[in-house]
Amino acid sequence: MIEKQTAHLYIVSTPIGNLGDITARAIEILETVDIIAAEDTRHSGRLLQYFGINTPTISLHDHNESQRSETLLEWLQNGESIALISDAGTPLISDPGYRLVSLVRDAGIKVIPIPGACALIAALSSAGIPSDRFIFEGFLPSKQGARRQALERLKHETRTLIFYESPRRLVNSLDDMMLAFGGARRACIARELTKLHETIETQELKYLHQWVNDSPEQLKGECVVLVEGAAKAQESDIAEVERVLQLLLADLPVKRAAVVTASLLGVSKNKAYELALALQKIK
Ligand code: SAM
Repeated sequence: MIEKQTAHLYIVSTPIGNLGDITARAIEILETVDIIAAEDTRHSGRLLQYFGINTPTISLHDHNESQRSETLLEWLQNGESIALISDAGTPLISDPGYRLVSLVRDAGIKVIPIPGACALIAALSSAGIPSDRFIFEGFLPSKQGARRQALERLKHETRTLIFYESPRRLVNSLDDMMLAFGGARRACIARELTKLHETIETQELKYLHQWVNDSPEQLKGECVVLVEGAAKAQESDIAEVERVLQLLLADLPVKRAAVVTASLLGVSKNKAYELALALQKIK
């Protein structure tokens, strides 16, 4: 047993499905802190009961976080130790807690992470999609226009893209991803991770779209969608971009030549502009 904790805020990860994924350290901290701040006290009550943890709980969710954080800070300043948990996985990852952590750190109180399950990391580690560089986009906007815009902005991103998605919106999001990235881009749907119906499918977007349409069970539960980044421009591609830019720069200003080249060859406007400026200098 460790001693009773004093005046630290612990950010404790809990399982995303399989209760066996809780860590020994998480249990120890949850047992010994003075209070547990939980996104939904009823939901977390079941987890705590399962592990025989009787620590009192208090709610901290999106709608009361600002005011509740002030109260929790006062308790910490009075020497009470607190653990923050969310409904599943790592707090603050598409879950509440950021305002609390920021307030507590600004007050000079130690914030200690107790790492564990996190759906995006579990998905990335098993998808078979490049994992060396990635960006996490959280949930895409639910309205189609905003979602398409968000995806359009990511079209030239070369790092792996990770999204949290509700199965209700999965088909629409896959539609929009095909529109932005093309049906041949490889992607993965990681559904119900660590649970009975866990499915991790990595294929081209067009295949995944068809597969989800054909298998309604894929629209149940929770899922993470990963999309391989855009292919990095090869040396030979750059030579082609420069060739087209050279031709256009004879008649067009730099910015216009870059925009036309980008849309002709499907490279990013920024990259085309950068190359156009460099060519302009050596003219
Ligand atoms: N804090 C959590 C974490 O660390 O992953 C995420 C919370 S967020 C509100 C919930 C979303 O995470 C779900 O809509 C889904 O996209 C993803 N997720 C959570 N558990 C999952 C699971 N077992 N399998 C697949 N995705 C999951």
